[in-house]
Amino acid sequence: MTEWIDLRSDTVTRPTPEMREAMMKAEVGDDVYMEDPTVNHLQERAAEIFGREAALFVPSGTMGNQIAVKSHTHHGQEVILEEAGHIFNYELATMSAFSGVMPRPIAGHDGVITWNEIKTRIRPKIYYLSHTGLVALENTHNMAGGSVFPQAVADEVCDRAHESGIPVHLDGARIFNASIATGKSVVELTQKFDSVMFCLSKGLGAPVGSLLLGSRELIERARVYRKAMGGGMRQVGVLAAAGLVALEKHPAKLHEDHANAKHLAKALAEMPGIQMDPSKVQTNILVFDISGTGQDTSSFSQALRKHRVLANGINPTHMRMVTHYDVHRDDIEKTIQAIHSILETP
Ligand SMILES: *Cc1c(COP(=O)(O)O)cnc(C)c1O
Repeated sequence: MTEWIDLRSDTVTRPTPEMREAMMKAEVGDDVYMEDPTVNHLQERAAEIFGREAALFVPSGTMGNQIAVKSHTHHGQEVILEEAGHIFNYELATMSAFSGVMPRPIAGHDGVITWNEIKTRIRPKIYYLSHTGLVALENTHNMAGGSVFPQAVADEVCDRAHESGIPVHLDGARIFNASIATGKSVVELTQKFDSVMFCLSKGLGAPVGSLLLGSRELIERARVYRKAMGGGMRQVGVLAAAGLVALEKHPAKLHEDHANAKHLAKALAEMPGIQMDPSKVQTNILVFDISGTGQDTSSFSQALRKHRVLANGINPTHMRMVTHYDVHRDDIEKTIQAIHSILETP
């Protein structure tokens, strides 16, 4: 039986033999007592790589983002973020349920919101208006097709927000993809943010885990909220060991995913009824409009399944495809052939 080509997400990667080996050999202890040497090592390495005081290993990106929101804000405050962003759309209403804050979304352009847009949403400090407690940005931007947040815009948001006494969090689930795409280090990309979350379980390929980075003081608070959310894990060095392999070895491989995404984007751009601008594909995510094909995304996805290709729509008109290390160039060629044949026989 031919293997499935799974382009639904970069979360579908399976741990490499090297990761499994590292997991088997991992030294462990009880991480709630902060006694797991492998978790401690992962946290120290992540902090070092990002030039931060401290890092916290969390089970998911969602938990990392949400304990960051909680650590920065008070109940009754507002959080300014981008309308299509992950924190606002794909983490349930946890920011409201857990942190008691109200999102104030701004419609972005390819996931980008500027200081000029943000500043008009910051409420004057008057006792009868709720206060802005946090600004959150996303890099790369998932729903905008893996777009890289322009660094000058991000830096300005951070500088100006800080002048107003407002912290800025970065949902950097795929920050290493942004780093590879721009040639800028993750330090350069993230240094002005008060906290950063990145995922080991996306393109870096670990089975589980994300890290939250920040000052020692922030991370100490975040540890309390991680426990409150049920994220206090025990001999979790077995997972951190896979995470260490992902962190040390896999950023250098991401350029292959980007090249594969670009190759697919260029082929899609030539196909009738598909709207795809390959110049917008900067990393490993493609979002493209299929409305000109006369099909909706659910029938398109079903037709792809018959060719053993998995991909989903993000709405009735737009498909999303994500490349990762379990998708090779020949899988991309097969996907292109599959789409050709779907378009010929709708
Ligand atoms: C995947 C993702 C997250 C976190 O996801 P989890 O599935 O909870 O690990 C956060 N932000 C973005 C942009 C993501 O793509």
